[in-house]
Amino acid sequence: MSLEQFKNRNVGIHTYKTLDVGTPPNTGMEKFTQVVTRAVKGELFVGLWVVMREMINTLVKGDVHTVKYPFEKMPISPRYRAIHDMLRLLESGNYRCIGCGLCEKICISNCISMDTRYDEEQRKEVSEYTINFGRCIFCGYCAEVCPELAIVHGPRYENASEQRAGYSLFEDMLTPIDKLNLQQEYDGFGAVSPNADENITQTPLAY
Ligand code: SF4
Ligand code: SF4
Repeated sequence: MSLEQFKNRNVGIHTYKTLDVGTPPNTGMEKFTQVVTRAVKGELFVGLWVVMREMINTLVKGDVHTVKYPFEKMPISPRYRAIHDMLRLLESGNYRCIGCGLCEKICISNCISMDTRYDEEQRKEVSEYTINFGRCIFCGYCAEVCPELAIVHGPRYENASEQRAGYSLFEDMLTPIDKLNLQQEYDGFGAVSPNADENITQTPLAY
């Protein structure tokens, strides 16, 4: 191939195709005819038939595909990280949190604030516990680190608020004592994995 070929700028000149757009309409009647011819085609009636078919299925057969939110909600993944729940011990009803403070320490948004005190039997109890949901990024570290499975991510994901700083108190997240029988061991983020027993190995003792 000679170098002259690379200097040829008339590439594609023979591949242009000219569309036959016909004669442009001049009179009003010709314009009207063109609009009707282009608009009313077979596809239009196919679309109308699909709409009619779905409407009849919905009204007559009750075959509805839409979710009537907020009355109906789609199921979410068990690993979805939504608003936190504080769980209770099923046996005694006491809350599981032992006030170790690990969740507060690990929180990268610094949105957990807690305090503890000693009760009359010199046992540690949580006196203050808040999560600022205006700052929380739902990373799940707090649920992951909790040694007691006390804090988990529950299924509530509607956390819209008129206030930017939406604080949640310990009592708001704690399972109500009268609904303890409804508390389920959460199989989502931060919970024990189904094969946890298989992963336990004997700790070698040095003595
Ligand atoms: S989910 Fe993450 S950001 Fe939210 S409270 Fe827990 S550790 Fe903090
Ligand atoms: S890590 Fe768990 S047990 Fe420890 S303070 Fe947080 S919620 Fe309570």
